[in-house]
Amino acid sequence: LEEQLLHSQKMEAVGTLAGGIAHDFNNLLTAMMGFAQLADQQASTLVHDDAPLALRNGLRDVRTELIEIMKAGERAAMLTSQLLAFSRRQRVTPTEVDVNVAVHDIERMLQRLIGERLTLTTRTVGQPLPVMVDAGQLAQVLVNLVVNARDAMPNGGMVQVSTDLLDLAAVGDGAYAGVPAGAWVVLTVQDSGTGMTPEVQARIFEPFYTTKAIGDGTGLGMSTVYGIVQQAGGRLLVDSTLGVGTAVRVLLPRLAARSLPVGAPPAVERPTSE
Ligand code: ADP
Repeated sequence: LEEQLLHSQKMEAVGTLAGGIAHDFNNLLTAMMGFAQLADQQASTLVHDDAPLALRNGLRDVRTELIEIMKAGERAAMLTSQLLAFSRRQRVTPTEVDVNVAVHDIERMLQRLIGERLTLTTRTVGQPLPVMVDAGQLAQVLVNLVVNARDAMPNGGMVQVSTDLLDLAAVGDGAYAGVPAGAWVVLTVQDSGTGMTPEVQARIFEPFYTTKAIGDGTGLGMSTVYGIVQQAGGRLLVDSTLGVGTAVRVLLPRLAARSLPVGAPPAVERPTSE
């Protein structure tokens, strides 16, 4: 528990700092992207057929370069949005979300994210899986985990996103070791990637810990996932074998009732032990 407290204090301090920087940086980035787009529009209007060939070729190069600027800007914007989410400057509104629906809603976006080189499969269970969570944050959890899975498979492979309902009568064992009794919705992202050494695995929730090249990772993905899952009363289980792959399981308390009377506070079925 003490370790957890220290971890969350560290995360908060880093988050405040990072959030402030990300916020200001984002404003500058918006200006940069806006001007790059304007310049591209202007360049495109100058390229007409009666313009001299040298000018047309020059402008074509300029447009290619501007597109590179905008692409880099988009990546930078993704990193800052990760920073902002980490520092929780974004408003959090938990609502009743069916995890199966959430997975299907985001499936195509995840597919685009991992590209054509990798295969994404999704498998959802038949029954509804209601949980109380901010829908945007749940999407972010999925995106972060799928991006990590993608980055762990430079030579191709498979990512599986799956859902399950776990009804624990007592404290779990095996893959669910230490999980308190209760009804849990399980969201698993499994990859056939590099896996992690125990040393790496021990540090993945540390803010800014990354093994990726500069510009490829912030080291905030897993910290963010951890924070979101913690806030939603859930658990995060990482099961990784070097050379075989990694499975990250997100456990969220299943909402007891599907339809709540208007005005009544949502009944969250929380595990009772600890
Ligand atoms: P980032 O992805 O920006 O590096 P994260 O906090 O998401 O930051 O991850 C931290 C580190 O954990 C990664 O750099 C990587 O070494 C390791 N990691 C996370 N997920 C996986 C995975 N699915 N397979 C292998 N390594 C992983």
